[in-house]
Amino acid sequence: MAAAAMAALLHACAAPSNTAPDLPAPVRETRAPVTILIGIDGFRAAYLDRGVTPTLSRLAAEGAHAAMRPSFPVKTFPNFYTLVTGLRPDRHGIVANKFEDPARPGERFTQASQESYWWEQAEPIWVSAERTGIRSAILFWPGSSIAVSGVRPSDWRPYDMTVTGQQRVDTVIDWLRRPAATRPKLIGVYFDTIDSAGHKLGPDDKALDEPLAEIDALIAGLIRALTAINQPANFVIVADHGMGGSSPERRIRLDQIARAEDYRVIEQGPYAAIEPAPGRDVQLAAALLKPHPHMQCWRRGAIPARLHYGTNPRTPAFLCLPEMGWMIASGPPAATAGKGEHGWDPDAREMRALFIAHGPWIAQAGAVPDFDNVDVYPLLRRLTGLPPAPGIDGDARTLAPVVAEP
Ligand code: AMP
Ligand code: ZN
Ligand code: ZN
Repeated sequence: MAAAAMAALLHACAAPSNTAPDLPAPVRETRAPVTILIGIDGFRAAYLDRGVTPTLSRLAAEGAHAAMRPSFPVKTFPNFYTLVTGLRPDRHGIVANKFEDPARPGERFTQASQESYWWEQAEPIWVSAERTGIRSAILFWPGSSIAVSGVRPSDWRPYDMTVTGQQRVDTVIDWLRRPAATRPKLIGVYFDTIDSAGHKLGPDDKALDEPLAEIDALIAGLIRALTAINQPANFVIVADHGMGGSSPERRIRLDQIARAEDYRVIEQGPYAAIEPAPGRDVQLAAALLKPHPHMQCWRRGAIPARLHYGTNPRTPAFLCLPEMGWMIASGPPAATAGKGEHGWDPDAREMRALFIAHGPWIAQAGAVPDFDNVDVYPLLRRLTGLPPAPGIDGDARTLAPVVAEP
């Protein structure tokens, strides 16, 4: 169905039910499907095989699922923004969880930054939706509390880790219990517990089964509540990245490779973002660009093309990427170091992220071939009734076979 026709259908179905007094019984409102985007931080694709997520496994079997390749860098903010913009981090501008910008000397973007400036190299889907009169309600998705080009979702909340998973589900249901005029058509909700547990325990610990089962039960509860209010939904359930094991023995010590006065570390761990100290570029290049065991470094302009990184002025002057499982550190490991990490090569199996689509407009496609997470965005636009977006990194053809519009 053409996007315009679908939008018209959505509109028609969303009209309030006829409550004329001469009807023998109240007519139950027929609702058009809404799009529900669920983001589960750090839900590695392979977690689905642990046998502890029956709801997600059922949705995957009845709909479509894949081990989705994250974008570089394999961190939270860059990947969640990729999912809602169809652009790689190098193009959407959230180039890391922490980065600097030559246009803003002396400042640093962090996960706590609230200024619109950082987010405005791209337009998230909820902004496009709002601009065309499609109401959106987004809970805790990175960027959803920021006005991008002056527009926010109709409903949003400042990020608050203490809001429980159940409260998040209840918020979504409350939004959908509203009268048609104020009910959202595009809903987003974010969960952080799987990432935190994965960092602490590592991806292979049996104790991770408990938070996984909790998330699964929350989604089961959401589905039951939707059924109770007769609200069909097309679900897109995604993670930003997977999780890999790390250990204190697999450390690459930057302070033993380069001289402290030659560099500043912006980020370190499963990759490192490094800036030369003023006037020390040549010395730093000599130290970093020679061969190292378990690690390779590049200048910004020489990063391998498959990582699609290094043209944005916000990307670091030097990037170092270790082998899977190895970590770059500028000092000895902290006693509190966790057992799980992400940020390694996006091609690594461990970094693959959950992708499930399920709903009335989703075909029973089962397992689909692995794909890049930039390709989720065209699917989201189609389900939400937005026309295809030109000039993005994502390819609408990748997930076209999973759509079965009425
Ligand atoms: P990381 O593992 O460092 O890539 O990031 C994951 C962390 O990001 C989680 O522990 C979340 O609590 C945090 N996080 C997610 N969304 C937000 C947000 N909107 N603002 C601040 N922190 C966030
Ligand atoms: Zn994450
Ligand atoms: Zn994380």
